[in-house]
Amino acid sequence: MDFDLSPAARDLRDRAERFFTSHILPRNPDYQAWMAAHDVGNPPFLAELKAKARAEGLWNLALPKLGADEPGTRCTNLEFAPVAEILGRLPWASSVFNCHAPDVPNMEILQAHGTAEQKRRWLRPLLEGTTHSAFAMTEPDVASSDASNIATRITRDGDHYVINGRKWFASSGSRPDCEFLLLMGVTDPDASRTRRHSVVIVPTDTPGITLVRNLPTFGHMDRVSPHPEFRFDNVRVPVENLLGAEGAGFAIGQGRLGPARIHHCMRAIGTCEVLIALMLQRAGRRESFGRKIGDYANIQEWIALSRLELEQARLMVLKAAWALDRYGNKGARKEISLIKIGVARAYSYIADRAVQIFGAMGSTDDTPAAAAYTNARLLRIYDGPDEVHHRTLYRFEAEDAEQANRDLRAYLPSG
Ligand SMILES: Cc1cc2nc3c(=O)[nH]c(=O)nc-3n(C[C@H](O)[C@H](O)[C@H](O)COP(=O)(O)OP(=O)(O)OC[C@H]3O[C@@H](n4cnc5c(N)ncnc54)[C@H](O)[C@@H]3O)c2cc1C
Repeated sequence: MDFDLSPAARDLRDRAERFFTSHILPRNPDYQAWMAAHDVGNPPFLAELKAKARAEGLWNLALPKLGADEPGTRCTNLEFAPVAEILGRLPWASSVFNCHAPDVPNMEILQAHGTAEQKRRWLRPLLEGTTHSAFAMTEPDVASSDASNIATRITRDGDHYVINGRKWFASSGSRPDCEFLLLMGVTDPDASRTRRHSVVIVPTDTPGITLVRNLPTFGHMDRVSPHPEFRFDNVRVPVENLLGAEGAGFAIGQGRLGPARIHHCMRAIGTCEVLIALMLQRAGRRESFGRKIGDYANIQEWIALSRLELEQARLMVLKAAWALDRYGNKGARKEISLIKIGVARAYSYIADRAVQIFGAMGSTDDTPAAAAYTNARLLRIYDGPDEVHHRTLYRFEAEDAEQANRDLRAYLPSG
Protein backbone atom coordinates (compact mmCIF):
# COMPACT_ATOMS: atom_id res chain seq x y z
CA MET A 1 0.00 0.00 0.00
CA ASP A 2 1.61 3.21 -1.17
CA PHE A 3 0.17 6.60 -0.23
CA ASP A 4 2.94 8.58 -1.88
CA LEU A 5 1.71 11.16 -4.36
CA SER A 6 3.05 11.25 -7.89
CA PRO A 7 4.90 14.49 -8.84
CA ALA A 8 1.79 15.58 -10.81
CA ALA A 9 -0.52 14.96 -7.83
CA ARG A 10 1.89 16.81 -5.52
CA ASP A 11 1.90 19.72 -7.91
CA LEU A 12 -1.91 19.71 -7.93
CA ARG A 13 -2.05 19.68 -4.13
CA ASP A 14 0.42 22.56 -3.95
CA ARG A 15 -1.54 24.58 -6.50
CA ALA A 16 -4.76 23.91 -4.56
CA GLU A 17 -3.01 25.06 -1.37
CA ARG A 18 -1.81 28.27 -3.00
CA PHE A 19 -5.23 28.97 -4.51
CA PHE A 20 -6.95 28.36 -1.18
CA THR A 21 -4.52 30.60 0.71
CA SER A 22 -4.43 33.40 -1.86
CA HIS A 23 -7.99 33.51 -3.15
CA ILE A 24 -10.48 31.57 -1.01
CA LEU A 25 -9.47 32.13 2.61
CA PRO A 26 -9.15 35.94 2.24
CA ARG A 27 -12.76 36.04 0.97
CA ASN A 28 -14.17 34.13 3.95
CA PRO A 29 -15.12 37.25 5.93
CA ASP A 30 -16.94 38.58 2.82
CA TYR A 31 -18.61 35.22 2.33
CA GLN A 32 -19.80 35.09 5.94
CA ALA A 33 -21.06 38.68 5.83
CA TRP A 34 -22.93 38.07 2.57
CA MET A 35 -24.55 34.88 3.85
CA ALA A 36 -25.61 36.61 7.07
CA ALA A 37 -27.40 39.27 5.02
CA HIS A 38 -29.11 37.02 2.46
CA ASP A 39 -31.54 34.15 2.78
CA VAL A 40 -30.63 32.30 -0.41
CA GLY A 41 -28.18 32.39 -3.27
CA ASN A 42 -24.44 32.85 -3.59
CA PRO A 43 -22.21 35.86 -3.07
CA PRO A 44 -21.46 37.44 -6.47
CA PHE A 45 -17.71 36.89 -6.11
CA LEU A 46 -18.21 33.11 -5.99
CA ALA A 47 -18.68 32.95 -9.78
CA GLU A 48 -15.51 34.97 -10.25
CA LEU A 49 -13.56 32.60 -7.96
CA LYS A 50 -14.95 29.57 -9.79
CA ALA A 51 -13.90 30.95 -13.16
CA LYS A 52 -10.42 31.60 -11.82
CA ALA A 53 -10.12 28.11 -10.35
CA ARG A 54 -11.30 26.58 -13.59
CA ALA A 55 -8.81 28.61 -15.61
CA GLU A 56 -6.07 27.22 -13.37
CA GLY A 57 -7.19 23.62 -13.93
CA LEU A 58 -8.58 23.30 -10.40
CA TRP A 59 -11.96 22.05 -11.54
CA ASN A 60 -14.00 18.83 -11.24
CA LEU A 61 -11.10 17.12 -9.53
CA ALA A 62 -13.27 14.60 -7.74
CA LEU A 63 -14.69 12.67 -10.66
CA PRO A 64 -13.39 9.27 -11.62
CA LYS A 65 -11.54 8.82 -14.89
CA LEU A 66 -14.41 7.67 -17.08
CA GLY A 67 -14.07 9.68 -20.27
CA ALA A 68 -12.13 12.45 -21.91
CA ASP A 69 -15.00 14.64 -23.07
CA GLU A 70 -15.91 16.46 -19.85
CA PRO A 71 -14.25 19.54 -18.40
CA GLY A 72 -11.98 19.01 -15.43
CA THR A 73 -8.77 17.47 -14.17
CA ARG A 74 -9.60 14.04 -12.97
CA CYS A 75 -7.81 12.53 -10.00
CA THR A 76 -7.80 9.16 -8.35
CA ASN A 77 -9.34 9.11 -4.88
CA LEU A 78 -5.85 9.00 -3.39
CA GLU A 79 -4.81 12.05 -5.39
CA PHE A 80 -8.01 13.90 -4.52
CA ALA A 81 -7.68 13.28 -0.74
CA PRO A 82 -5.16 16.08 0.03
CA VAL A 83 -7.05 18.55 -2.18
CA ALA A 84 -10.40 17.72 -0.53
CA GLU A 85 -8.73 18.16 2.85
CA ILE A 86 -7.55 21.65 1.90
CA LEU A 87 -11.04 22.55 0.67
CA GLY A 88 -12.61 21.07 3.82
CA ARG A 89 -11.04 23.87 5.87
CA LEU A 90 -14.01 26.05 4.91
CA PRO A 91 -17.55 24.74 4.37
CA TRP A 92 -17.99 26.61 1.08
CA ALA A 93 -14.53 26.12 -0.48
CA SER A 94 -15.31 22.86 -2.33
CA SER A 95 -17.85 24.64 -4.53
CA VAL A 96 -15.10 26.92 -5.88
CA PHE A 97 -13.45 23.86 -7.49
CA ASN A 98 -16.86 22.33 -8.38
CA CYS A 99 -16.06 19.50 -5.98
CA HIS A 100 -18.99 19.88 -3.57
CA ALA A 101 -21.70 17.54 -2.32
CA PRO A 102 -24.24 16.46 -3.38
CA ASP A 103 -23.39 17.40 -6.98
CA VAL A 104 -20.22 15.33 -7.26
CA PRO A 105 -21.80 11.96 -6.41
CA ASN A 106 -24.74 12.91 -8.65
CA MET A 107 -22.32 13.67 -11.48
CA GLU A 108 -20.71 10.29 -10.91
CA ILE A 109 -23.93 8.36 -11.32
CA LEU A 110 -24.94 10.39 -14.35
CA GLN A 111 -21.53 9.73 -15.84
CA ALA A 112 -21.75 6.02 -15.10
CA HIS A 113 -25.40 5.35 -15.99
CA GLY A 114 -26.64 8.25 -18.15
CA THR A 115 -27.47 8.01 -21.83
CA ALA A 116 -25.65 10.36 -24.21
CA GLU A 117 -28.67 12.69 -24.18
CA GLN A 118 -28.96 12.62 -20.36
CA LYS A 119 -25.29 13.48 -20.10
CA ARG A 120 -25.70 16.37 -22.52
CA ARG A 121 -28.84 17.71 -20.84
CA TRP A 122 -28.19 17.10 -17.15
CA LEU A 123 -24.55 16.20 -16.53
CA ARG A 124 -22.88 18.83 -18.70
CA PRO A 125 -24.33 21.86 -16.79
CA LEU A 126 -23.22 20.29 -13.51
CA LEU A 127 -19.72 19.79 -14.87
CA GLU A 128 -19.75 23.39 -16.02
CA GLY A 129 -20.81 24.45 -12.51
CA THR A 130 -23.80 26.41 -13.81
CA THR A 131 -26.51 24.45 -12.01
CA HIS A 132 -27.21 22.23 -9.00
CA SER A 133 -28.85 18.89 -8.32
CA ALA A 134 -30.12 16.82 -5.39
CA PHE A 135 -30.53 13.15 -4.56
CA ALA A 136 -34.00 12.34 -3.25
CA MET A 137 -33.99 8.96 -1.58
CA THR A 138 -34.89 9.38 2.10
CA GLU A 139 -38.55 9.42 3.11
CA PRO A 140 -40.18 10.52 6.36
CA ASP A 141 -42.51 7.52 6.46
CA VAL A 142 -40.00 4.65 6.24
CA ALA A 143 -36.66 3.75 7.86
CA SER A 144 -34.45 4.95 5.04
CA SER A 145 -31.26 3.49 6.52
CA ASP A 146 -32.52 0.46 4.67
CA ALA A 147 -32.86 1.76 1.10
CA SER A 148 -35.00 -1.23 0.14
CA ASN A 149 -37.78 0.33 2.29
CA ILE A 150 -38.15 3.33 -0.05
CA ALA A 151 -41.84 3.49 -0.94
CA THR A 152 -42.44 6.45 -3.31
CA ARG A 153 -44.18 5.01 -6.36
CA ILE A 154 -42.95 5.51 -9.92
CA THR A 155 -45.61 4.13 -12.24
CA ARG A 156 -45.28 3.79 -15.99
CA ASP A 157 -48.10 5.51 -17.92
CA GLY A 158 -47.49 5.42 -21.68
CA ASP A 159 -44.45 7.55 -22.45
CA HIS A 160 -44.25 8.89 -18.90
CA TYR A 161 -43.47 7.87 -15.38
CA VAL A 162 -45.87 9.17 -12.73
CA ILE A 163 -44.41 9.81 -9.28
CA ASN A 164 -46.37 9.83 -6.01
CA GLY A 165 -44.87 10.01 -2.54
CA ARG A 166 -42.95 12.04 0.03
CA LYS A 167 -39.25 12.74 0.34
CA TRP A 168 -37.18 14.70 2.79
CA PHE A 169 -33.55 15.64 3.33
CA ALA A 170 -33.04 15.88 -0.43
CA SER A 171 -30.17 18.24 0.36
CA SER A 172 -29.85 21.26 -1.96
CA GLY A 173 -33.14 20.32 -3.65
CA SER A 174 -34.81 23.61 -2.67
CA ARG A 175 -31.97 25.86 -3.77
CA PRO A 176 -33.38 28.28 -6.35
CA ASP A 177 -30.66 27.12 -8.77
CA CYS A 178 -31.26 23.40 -8.25
CA GLU A 179 -32.41 22.19 -11.65
CA PHE A 180 -33.25 18.56 -11.00
CA LEU A 181 -33.63 15.77 -8.49
CA LEU A 182 -32.39 12.23 -8.92
CA LEU A 183 -35.32 10.50 -7.31
CA MET A 184 -35.39 6.90 -6.17
CA GLY A 185 -38.74 5.10 -6.05
CA VAL A 186 -40.50 1.80 -6.58
CA THR A 187 -41.17 0.76 -10.17
CA ASP A 188 -41.92 -2.92 -9.51
CA PRO A 189 -43.27 -3.70 -6.02
CA ASP A 190 -43.27 -7.43 -6.80
CA ALA A 191 -39.57 -7.67 -7.62
CA SER A 192 -36.95 -8.74 -5.06
CA ARG A 193 -36.01 -6.08 -2.47
CA THR A 194 -32.95 -4.91 -4.42
CA ARG A 195 -34.67 -4.91 -7.83
CA ARG A 196 -37.85 -2.97 -6.98
CA HIS A 197 -36.44 0.52 -7.33
CA SER A 198 -35.42 2.85 -10.12
CA VAL A 199 -33.91 6.32 -10.30
CA VAL A 200 -35.53 9.00 -12.45
CA ILE A 201 -34.41 12.51 -13.28
CA VAL A 202 -37.06 14.98 -12.12
CA PRO A 203 -36.74 18.66 -13.14
CA THR A 204 -37.56 20.75 -10.08
CA ASP A 205 -40.12 22.85 -11.97
CA THR A 206 -42.27 19.82 -12.87
CA PRO A 207 -45.95 20.37 -11.90
CA GLY A 208 -47.05 18.34 -8.87
CA ILE A 209 -43.93 18.91 -6.75
CA THR A 210 -44.68 20.75 -3.50
CA LEU A 211 -41.93 22.12 -1.32
CA VAL A 212 -43.50 21.43 2.09
CA ARG A 213 -40.71 23.08 4.12
CA ASN A 214 -36.99 23.33 4.61
CA LEU A 215 -35.89 21.43 7.70
CA PRO A 216 -33.61 22.99 10.27
CA THR A 217 -31.04 20.66 11.84
CA PHE A 218 -30.40 21.27 15.54
CA GLY A 219 -32.31 24.52 15.17
CA HIS A 220 -30.20 25.82 12.29
CA MET A 221 -31.30 26.30 8.71
CA ASP A 222 -28.63 25.32 6.22
CA ARG A 223 -28.96 28.02 3.58
CA VAL A 224 -26.22 26.76 1.26
CA SER A 225 -27.49 23.21 1.05
CA PRO A 226 -31.00 23.30 2.56
CA HIS A 227 -32.77 20.08 3.53
CA PRO A 228 -36.23 20.21 1.96
CA GLU A 229 -39.28 18.06 2.44
CA PHE A 230 -41.15 17.47 -0.84
CA ARG A 231 -44.50 16.01 -1.76
CA PHE A 232 -44.98 14.45 -5.20
CA ASP A 233 -48.55 14.30 -6.49
CA ASN A 234 -48.87 12.75 -9.94
CA VAL A 235 -45.56 14.22 -11.05
CA ARG A 236 -44.99 13.20 -14.68
CA VAL A 237 -41.59 12.83 -16.30
CA PRO A 238 -40.86 11.35 -19.75
CA VAL A 239 -39.60 7.75 -19.81
CA GLU A 240 -36.32 9.10 -21.24
CA ASN A 241 -35.65 10.40 -17.73
CA LEU A 242 -35.07 6.93 -16.34
CA LEU A 243 -31.44 6.65 -15.21
CA GLY A 244 -29.97 3.24 -16.02
CA ALA A 245 -32.32 0.29 -16.23
CA GLU A 246 -35.66 -0.18 -14.49
CA GLY A 247 -34.93 -2.02 -11.25
CA ALA A 248 -31.34 -0.72 -11.03
CA GLY A 249 -32.18 2.06 -8.55
CA PHE A 250 -30.98 0.26 -5.44
CA ALA A 251 -27.60 -0.55 -7.01
CA ILE A 252 -27.22 3.01 -8.35
CA GLY A 253 -28.01 4.45 -4.91
CA GLN A 254 -25.52 2.16 -3.19
CA GLY A 255 -22.84 2.87 -5.80
CA ARG A 256 -23.27 6.59 -5.19
CA LEU A 257 -22.53 6.22 -1.50
CA GLY A 258 -18.90 5.06 -1.67
CA PRO A 259 -17.50 8.26 -3.18
CA ALA A 260 -20.01 10.46 -1.29
CA ARG A 261 -18.88 9.04 2.05
CA ILE A 262 -15.18 9.22 1.40
CA HIS A 263 -15.37 12.84 0.22
CA HIS A 264 -17.24 13.88 3.36
CA CYS A 265 -14.52 12.19 5.42
CA MET A 266 -11.70 13.86 3.47
CA ARG A 267 -13.26 17.28 3.99
CA ALA A 268 -13.89 16.61 7.70
CA ILE A 269 -10.14 16.08 8.17
CA GLY A 270 -9.47 19.56 6.79
CA THR A 271 -12.06 21.02 9.17
CA CYS A 272 -10.43 19.25 12.12
CA GLU A 273 -7.00 20.65 11.21
CA VAL A 274 -8.48 24.15 11.45
CA LEU A 275 -10.07 23.32 14.81
CA ILE A 276 -6.79 22.04 16.25
CA ALA A 277 -4.97 25.17 15.05
CA LEU A 278 -7.65 27.41 16.57
CA MET A 279 -7.67 25.48 19.87
CA LEU A 280 -3.90 25.87 20.16
CA GLN A 281 -4.04 29.57 19.41
CA ARG A 282 -6.81 30.19 21.90
CA ALA A 283 -5.15 28.10 24.61
CA GLY A 284 -1.88 29.96 24.10
CA ARG A 285 -3.47 33.41 24.47
CA ARG A 286 -6.21 33.19 27.07
CA GLU A 287 -5.49 33.13 30.79
CA SER A 288 -7.53 31.90 33.72
CA PHE A 289 -6.50 31.63 37.38
CA GLY A 290 -3.17 33.21 36.54
CA ARG A 291 -2.11 30.71 33.89
CA LYS A 292 -2.54 30.30 30.18
CA ILE A 293 -5.32 27.85 29.47
CA GLY A 294 -2.82 25.88 27.40
CA ASP A 295 -0.66 25.37 30.50
CA TYR A 296 -3.29 23.15 32.06
CA ALA A 297 -2.60 19.46 31.57
CA ASN A 298 -6.12 18.61 30.49
CA ILE A 299 -6.01 21.14 27.64
CA GLN A 300 -2.65 19.78 26.49
CA GLU A 301 -4.10 16.29 26.61
CA TRP A 302 -7.14 17.38 24.53
CA ILE A 303 -4.88 18.79 21.86
CA ALA A 304 -2.63 15.73 21.90
CA LEU A 305 -5.64 13.39 21.69
CA SER A 306 -7.06 15.47 18.85
CA ARG A 307 -3.83 15.06 16.90
CA LEU A 308 -3.78 11.32 17.65
CA GLU A 309 -7.37 10.83 16.49
CA LEU A 310 -6.94 13.01 13.44
CA GLU A 311 -3.80 11.22 12.32
CA GLN A 312 -5.55 7.85 12.69
CA ALA A 313 -8.52 9.17 10.75
CA ARG A 314 -6.36 10.55 7.95
CA LEU A 315 -4.46 7.29 7.53
CA MET A 316 -7.71 5.33 7.45
CA VAL A 317 -9.10 7.66 4.80
CA LEU A 318 -5.97 7.28 2.68
CA LYS A 319 -6.26 3.53 2.95
CA ALA A 320 -9.92 3.69 1.94
CA ALA A 321 -9.04 5.95 -1.01
CA TRP A 322 -6.35 3.51 -2.06
CA ALA A 323 -8.80 0.58 -1.75
CA LEU A 324 -11.51 2.46 -3.68
CA ASP A 325 -9.09 3.20 -6.52
CA ARG A 326 -7.85 -0.37 -6.59
CA TYR A 327 -10.94 -2.48 -5.89
CA GLY A 328 -13.90 -0.18 -6.63
CA ASN A 329 -16.97 0.45 -4.50
CA LYS A 330 -17.70 -3.14 -3.67
CA GLY A 331 -14.12 -4.07 -2.87
CA ALA A 332 -13.70 -1.06 -0.58
CA ARG A 333 -16.94 -1.48 1.38
CA LYS A 334 -15.22 -2.43 4.60
CA GLU A 335 -12.76 0.48 4.43
CA ILE A 336 -15.58 2.91 3.64
CA SER A 337 -17.61 1.70 6.64
CA LEU A 338 -14.51 1.99 8.85
CA ILE A 339 -13.92 5.62 7.92
CA LYS A 340 -17.59 6.54 8.01
CA ILE A 341 -17.63 5.58 11.70
CA GLY A 342 -14.03 6.45 12.58
CA VAL A 343 -13.87 9.90 11.00
CA ALA A 344 -17.25 10.93 12.41
CA ARG A 345 -15.99 9.94 15.88
CA ALA A 346 -12.70 11.80 15.59
CA TYR A 347 -14.55 14.80 14.15
CA SER A 348 -17.10 14.74 17.01
CA TYR A 349 -14.46 14.52 19.74
CA ILE A 350 -12.31 17.24 18.21
CA ALA A 351 -15.24 19.60 17.58
CA ASP A 352 -16.50 18.99 21.12
CA ARG A 353 -13.12 19.96 22.59
CA ALA A 354 -12.95 23.03 20.35
CA VAL A 355 -16.36 24.19 21.60
CA GLN A 356 -15.20 23.69 25.19
CA ILE A 357 -11.86 25.49 24.80
CA PHE A 358 -13.63 28.51 23.31
CA GLY A 359 -16.12 28.59 26.20
CA ALA A 360 -19.31 30.57 25.50
CA MET A 361 -17.84 31.78 22.22
CA GLY A 362 -17.57 28.16 21.13
CA SER A 363 -21.34 27.86 21.16
CA THR A 364 -21.79 30.82 18.79
CA ASP A 365 -21.09 31.24 15.10
CA ASP A 366 -18.07 33.44 15.85
CA THR A 367 -15.82 30.39 15.47
CA PRO A 368 -16.25 27.34 13.18
CA ALA A 369 -16.47 25.07 16.24
CA ALA A 370 -20.26 25.11 16.67
CA ALA A 371 -20.96 24.37 13.00
CA ALA A 372 -18.33 21.61 13.08
CA TYR A 373 -19.91 20.14 16.21
CA THR A 374 -23.29 20.02 14.44
CA ASN A 375 -21.86 18.61 11.22
CA ALA A 376 -19.91 15.95 13.05
CA ARG A 377 -23.08 14.82 14.78
CA LEU A 378 -25.00 14.75 11.50
CA LEU A 379 -22.24 12.76 9.84
CA ARG A 380 -23.14 9.93 12.21
CA ILE A 381 -26.56 9.80 10.53
CA TYR A 382 -26.34 10.75 6.88
CA ASP A 383 -24.98 8.39 4.23
CA GLY A 384 -25.94 5.57 6.57
CA PRO A 385 -26.12 5.82 10.38
CA ASP A 386 -23.26 4.43 12.47
CA GLU A 387 -25.24 1.35 13.43
CA VAL A 388 -25.65 0.22 9.84
CA HIS A 389 -21.89 0.48 9.36
CA HIS A 390 -21.30 -1.42 12.61
CA ARG A 391 -23.46 -4.16 11.19
CA THR A 392 -21.48 -4.21 7.96
CA LEU A 393 -18.21 -4.42 9.84
CA TYR A 394 -19.49 -7.17 12.11
CA ARG A 395 -20.46 -9.18 9.05
CA PHE A 396 -16.99 -8.76 7.55
CA GLU A 397 -15.43 -9.89 10.83
CA ALA A 398 -17.70 -12.91 11.10
CA GLU A 399 -17.10 -13.88 7.48
CA ASP A 400 -13.32 -13.53 7.82
CA ALA A 401 -13.35 -15.61 11.00
CA GLU A 402 -15.40 -18.31 9.35
CA GLN A 403 -13.11 -18.44 6.35
CA ALA A 404 -9.97 -18.51 8.49
CA ASN A 405 -11.50 -21.27 10.60
CA ARG A 406 -8.72 -20.87 13.15
CA ASP A 407 -8.21 -23.32 15.98
CA LEU A 408 -8.41 -21.00 19.00
CA ARG A 409 -8.37 -23.64 21.72
CA ALA A 410 -4.76 -22.95 22.73
CA TYR A 411 -5.72 -19.35 23.60
CA LEU A 412 -8.13 -20.67 26.17
CA PRO A 413 -6.07 -22.95 28.39
CA SER A 414 -8.99 -23.60 30.69
CA GLY A 415 -11.00 -24.92 27.74
C1 LIG B 1 -27.68 16.63 7.14
C2 LIG B 1 -28.34 15.50 6.40
C3 LIG B 1 -28.25 15.46 5.02
C4 LIG B 1 -28.88 14.44 4.30
N1 LIG B 1 -28.85 14.46 2.93
C5 LIG B 1 -29.58 13.54 2.24
C6 LIG B 1 -29.70 13.61 0.80
O1 LIG B 1 -29.12 14.50 0.16
N2 LIG B 1 -30.51 12.71 0.18
C7 LIG B 1 -31.19 11.73 0.86
O2 LIG B 1 -31.91 10.96 0.24
N3 LIG B 1 -31.06 11.64 2.22
C8 LIG B 1 -30.31 12.51 2.91
N4 LIG B 1 -30.23 12.43 4.29
C9 LIG B 1 -30.96 11.39 4.99
C10 LIG B 1 -30.06 10.31 5.57
O3 LIG B 1 -29.36 9.61 4.58
C11 LIG B 1 -30.97 9.39 6.41
O4 LIG B 1 -31.41 10.17 7.50
C12 LIG B 1 -30.27 8.15 6.90
O5 LIG B 1 -30.07 7.24 5.84
C13 LIG B 1 -31.08 7.44 7.99
O6 LIG B 1 -32.40 7.21 7.57
P1 LIG B 1 -33.60 7.65 8.55
O7 LIG B 1 -33.44 9.08 8.89
O8 LIG B 1 -34.89 7.23 7.90
O9 LIG B 1 -33.38 6.87 9.87
P2 LIG B 1 -33.95 5.40 10.22
O10 LIG B 1 -33.69 4.47 9.10
O11 LIG B 1 -35.32 5.53 10.73
O12 LIG B 1 -32.98 4.99 11.40
C14 LIG B 1 -33.07 5.62 12.68
C15 LIG B 1 -32.08 5.00 13.61
O13 LIG B 1 -32.36 3.61 13.76
C16 LIG B 1 -31.17 2.91 14.05
N5 LIG B 1 -30.94 1.86 13.04
C17 LIG B 1 -31.31 1.84 11.74
N6 LIG B 1 -30.89 0.72 11.15
C18 LIG B 1 -30.23 0.00 12.08
C19 LIG B 1 -29.56 -1.25 12.10
N7 LIG B 1 -29.44 -1.98 10.98
N8 LIG B 1 -29.00 -1.66 13.25
C20 LIG B 1 -29.09 -0.90 14.37
N9 LIG B 1 -29.69 0.29 14.42
C21 LIG B 1 -30.28 0.73 13.30
C22 LIG B 1 -30.02 3.94 13.96
O14 LIG B 1 -29.69 4.40 15.23
C23 LIG B 1 -30.64 5.04 13.12
O15 LIG B 1 -30.02 6.31 13.33
C24 LIG B 1 -29.58 13.42 5.01
C25 LIG B 1 -29.63 13.45 6.41
C26 LIG B 1 -29.03 14.48 7.10
C27 LIG B 1 -29.13 14.50 8.61
